[in-house]
Amino acid sequence: MAERTSVRTTSILLVLLLTAPILAGCLGGSTNDIDEACDEQEYWFEISEDSPYPGLDCETGLSKTLAMTIFVHRDNEGIDWLINETSIDTGIELINSIYNPYGIHFVLDEIIWIDEAFPDVQDEEDEGEGEKPGTINNSNEDGGDFGDQISVSQLGDVFAEGYNPANVNIVMQSIGWGSYSMYPWYSREYYISTVRASTFATSPVPSHELGHFLGLYHTHQFYDDPNSDSDLARAFIWTQDWLTPTEQCYSTGDFICSTPYDCYIWCEEILGCTANAYESDRPDQEPSEFANCTIEQHNPSRTNLMSRYSDRSEITPDQGARARYFIEFMVVNERNGNQLVLVE
Ligand SMILES: [Zn+2]
Repeated sequence: MAERTSVRTTSILLVLLLTAPILAGCLGGSTNDIDEACDEQEYWFEISEDSPYPGLDCETGLSKTLAMTIFVHRDNEGIDWLINETSIDTGIELINSIYNPYGIHFVLDEIIWIDEAFPDVQDEEDEGEGEKPGTINNSNEDGGDFGDQISVSQLGDVFAEGYNPANVNIVMQSIGWGSYSMYPWYSREYYISTVRASTFATSPVPSHELGHFLGLYHTHQFYDDPNSDSDLARAFIWTQDWLTPTEQCYSTGDFICSTPYDCYIWCEEILGCTANAYESDRPDQEPSEFANCTIEQHNPSRTNLMSRYSDRSEITPDQGARARYFIEFMVVNERNGNQLVLVE
């Protein structure tokens, strides 16, 4: 009993300690430094031409929680499950380590065990005459990445029954399939993020795919030619309800200011060098005929989660702010039966 009381006292002290700076931020003469703990309105809702995503000037703010529905099939032979609960938990911790600093938290709501073999990517290729059945163009619109993409129709009836339009739906897949996800502004029946089961616990790719689900583009988005400006019109429908940012860098490229120019491998003819530093950075491509770019020629962030470089692992505060903006977008907008419900 004594021990319990002391734990409780400690918690109260912690709450007081945590609350104190927030109160100071609200009541005291506010500074313009980026060190404020913001209220919910500032952190999640308020945008303006100067601050086109909510909470750009906030160091911290209220965290919100998204619930996950995770679909697990058996392997291609129909024997073992593709992933176990421990690895799922570990993978969600990894995802949270990237998104928690920006007020975004994921929890597991439900695992749907689908007692069927996951389709083998080879089978699908063999069946197709020229065209791969059911695959989605992975060039950019759906935010997808390398490899053939499984289609929703291949996932079976149990998937369709278990799909939760209020949650984040994750499909575990076998090796060989490319991961992909869906941007929130396209209207569709099923918004899924597909990830590789075998590396879910260790790879940044699931976090990358969730980045697309939360409205983050690749760092090289709309930037394949360094001499052409990208613009709002190229970002399609979501910008129609947006404002026009004061800072140009928020309306070009990936619509993020803090990510440096990145054209990945698609401007080497123009730059006269190849944009990747290591051949392993481009598993989907043949080695380039060009020499590697110097930092002066091309210096993208190779650690940014939304790049395709091998060290991708982190997002910037303005990417976090953009993700918060689209979480609220998904909460407010009913899209073809889908409407995100946050965990209270
Ligand atoms: Zn991607």
